[in-house]
Amino acid sequence: MLNKGYLIEKEDGVSKGGRRPKMMGFNQDLGFIIGIDLGATSLDIALTDAVGFILQRESEPSDVHLPPETVLGQCIEIIRRLISKQKCPVDKILGIGIGVPGPVDFSRSVLVAPPLMPNWENFSIRNFFKQAFPTAFVVVDNDVNVMALGEWRYGKAINVDHFIFVKIGTGIGAGIFSNGKIHRGNNGCAGDIGHICIDKNGPICRCGNRGCLEAMAAGPAIVQAGYQAIKENQSDFLAESMKKNNGILTPELISAACREGDEAALNIIRASGQMIGDVLASLVNFFNPSHIFIGGGISNFGNHLLVAIRRAVLRRSLPLATTQLQINFSQSGSDVGIYGVLALVQEHLFVDEKNPFFSK
Ligand SMILES: [Zn+2]
Repeated sequence: MLNKGYLIEKEDGVSKGGRRPKMMGFNQDLGFIIGIDLGATSLDIALTDAVGFILQRESEPSDVHLPPETVLGQCIEIIRRLISKQKCPVDKILGIGIGVPGPVDFSRSVLVAPPLMPNWENFSIRNFFKQAFPTAFVVVDNDVNVMALGEWRYGKAINVDHFIFVKIGTGIGAGIFSNGKIHRGNNGCAGDIGHICIDKNGPICRCGNRGCLEAMAAGPAIVQAGYQAIKENQSDFLAESMKKNNGILTPELISAACREGDEAALNIIRASGQMIGDVLASLVNFFNPSHIFIGGGISNFGNHLLVAIRRAVLRRSLPLATTQLQINFSQSGSDVGIYGVLALVQEHLFVDEKNPFFSK
């Protein structure tokens, strides 16, 4: 660590007789790290020092349906702006990490059959960034794995060795943290729980199969159930909200209806929570985590969602598996992704030097 320049001698410690002890500290001036949290419709980029202290940050709308060259080109433009503001030389960028909303083959840093962003299939994100920032180490991971890492490093999961982070938004996915490490599985797709079938006769999912959890319980399914409730005259409140919003219903409007105690909206969110909880119950029996953390846009639905998930998990899991199980919302909110991706880069730069993907 010392000969690599990671650690530097700081001022001497207090002498207790004999040789004077030397105080060591992490070399904050070693270089800079870039973290990119790429969502379906937005991107968030942070420039930090080597310790992970955020120095500059920018967010912009984006669209992962566009070709990767367009979206990653937008990222590079933002990075150039951030490093220019910070007066950071390009060769001082130690690492770039990016969390993406799709299944990632972690060893190759590419997306494989991503339902949300088919244009990105097998596109080398690492090579694209390396062309602009040749000295930087580049690591790519799935957005939910990155959120799990963020919760572990900065949120409620500090010192928790076995937990599941569940992201509920446009899709549903899980990051599995086992024995203090992200469990990615053989190809990197561990935790893709959104495509577990819960109803063989259910609606067609964007993956092409029928009745996936995601197609039944994620944001678009919640909105669809809202339209159905309006059609069946179950909620004047939802009908009025939709009218005021130019005839369009959104998860936010259904969430607002829940807060007003609208029974139809509450039933929709309870049904969604129960379906998610049923799947999580199987995971709890299989994996025996001590904690489950819920994050993502739909987690803003609040306690009604959480209570429904908890009930379903407790009803269907083995008593021994739920004795100490805690199910809560993520602490870090929308920042958990950016914190996680920064932690991912640090882990690979400074901890896991034997990592075969260490490309510097
Ligand atoms: Zn599916």
